Amino acid sequence: MKKVVIIGAGASGMFFALNINTDKYDVTILEKNKIAGKKLLMTGNGKCNFWNEDMTIKHFHSNENLDSIISDDLIREIPKIFDKLSIEKKNKNGYYYPFTNKASTIKDTFLEEIENKNIKIRYNYDVLNIEKTSDGYLINNEIKADILVIATGGLTYPKTGSNGEGINILQKLGHDVIQPLPSLVQLISTKKEYLKAWHGIREDAKVSLYINDKLIKEESGELQLTDYGISGICVFNISRDASIALYEKKKVEVKIDFMPFCNDVVKYLKEKNTKLSILSMLKRIINETLAKIILDESHIKYNVLVKNLSDNELERLEKNIKEFNLEIINTKSFDNAQVTRGGISLKDVNSKFESKKCKNLYIIGEALDVDGDCGGYNLAFAFMSAYKASKGLNDD
Ligand SMILES: Cc1cc2nc3c(=O)[nH]c(=O)nc-3n(C[C@H](O)[C@H](O)[C@H](O)COP(=O)(O)OP(=O)(O)OC[C@H]3O[C@@H](n4cnc5c(N)ncnc54)[C@H](O)[C@@H]3O)c2cc1C
Repeated sequence: MKKVVIIGAGASGMFFALNINTDKYDVTILEKNKIAGKKLLMTGNGKCNFWNEDMTIKHFHSNENLDSIISDDLIREIPKIFDKLSIEKKNKNGYYYPFTNKASTIKDTFLEEIENKNIKIRYNYDVLNIEKTSDGYLINNEIKADILVIATGGLTYPKTGSNGEGINILQKLGHDVIQPLPSLVQLISTKKEYLKAWHGIREDAKVSLYINDKLIKEESGELQLTDYGISGICVFNISRDASIALYEKKKVEVKIDFMPFCNDVVKYLKEKNTKLSILSMLKRIINETLAKIILDESHIKYNVLVKNLSDNELERLEKNIKEFNLEIINTKSFDNAQVTRGGISLKDVNSKFESKKCKNLYIIGEALDVDGDCGGYNLAFAFMSAYKASKGLNDD
């Protein structure tokens, strides 16, 4: 029987294990932590958003074309496996979670299945070195494998075990690496007095990402204002492009629309109760502290009556309500990011995720140059790549 060694008992490593045919292969998992799925347990704030109703290719990103990687057939297969595992799911606005609302349900179910298949997991085993031999691979100079599966993840939340070691090892074996960068991450703006004051405010807003003065992407949702800049799912979803642009030393700005429901703020204010002071008026729409910041930035006194605002004042106010400008100087680091943009180039794997550089070596999950939007897409890719690789071997 051929010996398969999986490195990493995270989302992709475990999913590969529970789909591989153990009548055909002798399977072992090597995991550096003392438990499996440390990152999986943190996903979706511990609730694990593992899938999405809108599972389409536009939510996945890579330097390469993903058409041959993420097919409709593959997308259809994964929910079937969750059904077979009897994991009851719940759909919250298109986002799928286990019905228990607990990531541990997914992890425990995976582990139970893996144990039922008599797959061994060796914990506290840190793979530092892989050598290609004439008939397979030698791990840390002691463990032999005929077939190797690298499921070591990306670089985010390195305390969970995925610190980029796997990517480094693959690079030494001749694979190309697309620059890893933090993605689905908070954005840091230039230092401003008002950042301290607005820390903790949450507003329903639209954020628009400008790179070198060109509009690149718009996202709406709950925006979190922080003492370093901005956060929230809408920010995470523009952070990938921001991260790449910052790495390329381009000018990055985010314009915030605090009244996305209204196209003409001047008309809106004039039509409303113009006997109110402008602060009283704005307080009815947005947080009071934020209203004061917007008025300060517009050089307008809080107690001016709306009807007495000059055309110039109205123009400045509209600009700061609809296009509050933040110059972005950095992203938060890998310690805070949810996913890694970049990793092993897809040019180096075939559609079954086998390396083109090293025969019988498979690369799955976040170690590859594929990342998804917020909404279950990153776990979805971990599962899809793991399933496809295992199927390739089962059909061999
Ligand atoms: C806070 C947070 C929340 C997230 N929430 C979501 C969400 O709700 N939905 C979603 O789709 N995605 C989410 N993600 C992203 C998702 O968790 C990852 O994309 C996914 O876990 C990647 O799976 P993976 O198997 O490739 O890597 P991982 O899950 O990181 O697993 C890699 C495993 O390999 C082990 N390992 C690494 N190197 C070695 C080595 N050298 N030797 C031995 N073992 C090694 C690690 O210890 C780890 O157990 C979130 C991420 C974070 C950080």
